[in-house]
Amino acid sequence: MKQVIVQSFCDLCLAEDEDQIQAVGEETMHGKVLDVCEQHRDRVRRMIRELDEVFALGTEAEPPQRPTRRVPPGSRTGMGGRPVLLLKETLAWRTCPECGHVAPTRSATGQHVKQRHSKKLGDYEWPT
Ligand SMILES: [Zn+2]
Ligand SMILES: [Zn+2]
Repeated sequence: MKQVIVQSFCDLCLAEDEDQIQAVGEETMHGKVLDVCEQHRDRVRRMIRELDEVFALGTEAEPPQRPTRRVPPGSRTGMGGRPVLLLKETLAWRTCPECGHVAPTRSATGQHVKQRHSKKLGDYEWPT
């Protein structure tokens, strides 16, 4: 019978032009596999851990976050002094507390709760 012995050598030792060092394990990242010797395995694992810690400080890449415009409530924009959205028109005030339906305007929310839930806007507590 024949027996095929797969020999794996440390990719990093080879890359550093060192002798072929028997690999003792594999490390996988980004769909690639590294054969590593004992020494390099420790080093690679430490680098992966450090990268994880660094990336833990980042923000989610998906979905892309838009920079939020910091406009204090009640303040006016610089564009011709147009008032910014009043609190009553914000998303929270246009979202039906009953079913989560978002109406285009505050008064549409009032119509919605009246028709769908037989309630009035005043029947709910709204954020202030
Ligand atoms: Zn090595
Ligand atoms: Zn509703």
